[in-house]
Amino acid sequence: MKKLYIETYGCQMNVYDSERIADLLAPFGYAPAARAEDADLVILNTCHIREKATEKVYSELGKLKLLKSRRAEAGESLLIGVAGCVAQAEGAEILARQSAVDILVGPQSYHRLPELIARLARGEGKSVQLDFPADEKFDSLPETRTAAGPAAFLTIQEGCDKFCTFCVVPYTRGAEFSRPVVRIEAEARSLADNGVREVTLLGQNVNAYRGEGPDGEAWTLAMLIRRLAQIPGIARLRYTTSHPRDMGADLIAVHGDEPKLMPYLHLPVQSGSDSVLKVMNRGHTRDAYLRIVDRIRSAQPKLALSSDFIVGFPGESDSDFEATLDLVRQVGFAQAFSFKYSARPGTPAASMAKQVPENVKLERLHVLQELIVSQSREFSRRMQDCVLPVLFEKPGRLPGQAVGRSPFLQPVHVDGAASYIGEIHNVRISKVLPNSLHGEFLRPAVLPAELAAH
Ligand code: SF4
Repeated sequence: MKKLYIETYGCQMNVYDSERIADLLAPFGYAPAARAEDADLVILNTCHIREKATEKVYSELGKLKLLKSRRAEAGESLLIGVAGCVAQAEGAEILARQSAVDILVGPQSYHRLPELIARLARGEGKSVQLDFPADEKFDSLPETRTAAGPAAFLTIQEGCDKFCTFCVVPYTRGAEFSRPVVRIEAEARSLADNGVREVTLLGQNVNAYRGEGPDGEAWTLAMLIRRLAQIPGIARLRYTTSHPRDMGADLIAVHGDEPKLMPYLHLPVQSGSDSVLKVMNRGHTRDAYLRIVDRIRSAQPKLALSSDFIVGFPGESDSDFEATLDLVRQVGFAQAFSFKYSARPGTPAASMAKQVPENVKLERLHVLQELIVSQSREFSRRMQDCVLPVLFEKPGRLPGQAVGRSPFLQPVHVDGAASYIGEIHNVRISKVLPNSLHGEFLRPAVLPAELAAH
């Protein structure tokens, strides 16, 4: 057996891709290695969202180059591959900058890895594969899915046609592509057969999903969720990442009447200012976003809402920033991620005028994060003494302890739960910490009515 080590950077879709790369190479004799030092093949599955991410890849490659030359001195070999969005964005530049790299594949062409490794073994030289045949990729991946635990990701949609002016995804992941329903369902059944209870459906624009249904028609995400909810063994469904423009009425409705769809939604808004949303090319206004939030909350009153924010976007004034703070106050988020604007090469915003000074960006980020943290603490505080069904996913830090997720995606630690990994049990929340909850088992006696539904 040869050993494979994959270092994964960035988003959940990269996590999914790394799992699929491992599934793909297993039949070719590659077993997982716990670290690069033990591997015959090392793949860096990269992310291009932040400036630092690209530089990090080059510094990792520098370390791998040393490992490779030590191996060569001992008469052994080490193959190095770069996959993901930096491979797609930087392309052959990587081979020029780092001669130790043997293989370069983009997010849509990692299914070609077995063939490229065989080519190397035959002495036919290094390979760069950066095509965009998303359908070909998925058709070439093994149907059976192994899962690392009771919760798994499942990519249903790739790419993006929105072209927000700050984002590299349309250039690194290509045009929107939705997988056929029957292929997704087969993969979900395989996950359920392997003990998975919770599936998170992934896409850069997951709610823009329009995949071919078994009836030959275009199916929406809501239709797909209702179909997957019928799979025995699948107890919970989630989806991420969504765009406000694609929150259709049927998707809002399924939040209200499908109990397996968890009451948690990540819906990035990026800014609360209409003028900033315009230059970001987000294609919606702040009021439109607020109306969507109202409609979802009336469908699912318990919904935990999370979002993404960028501060310091070119041209953002103090009053624009104030509009963002005002939107956050109005919505009340259970959680939100916030970033300083960082120019990405090749994106329109990178060459826009009125770039905001770093110190102003930093100041705004601090103010926004303070507000977001206070809101997420308030959301967690409301969990005190509540009873929540928790899916136990893995052992906790303490002996006998297990960690799981609440319906609101909060980590919940329970002592003496290690033998319940893979199961969903009711837990009474006894302690609320800044980033997690602690609880104890509630024998399934009395569940407060408002939570019995979940
Ligand atoms: S919708 Fe998301 S993935 Fe698409 S361009 Fe905008 S930020 Fe990027």
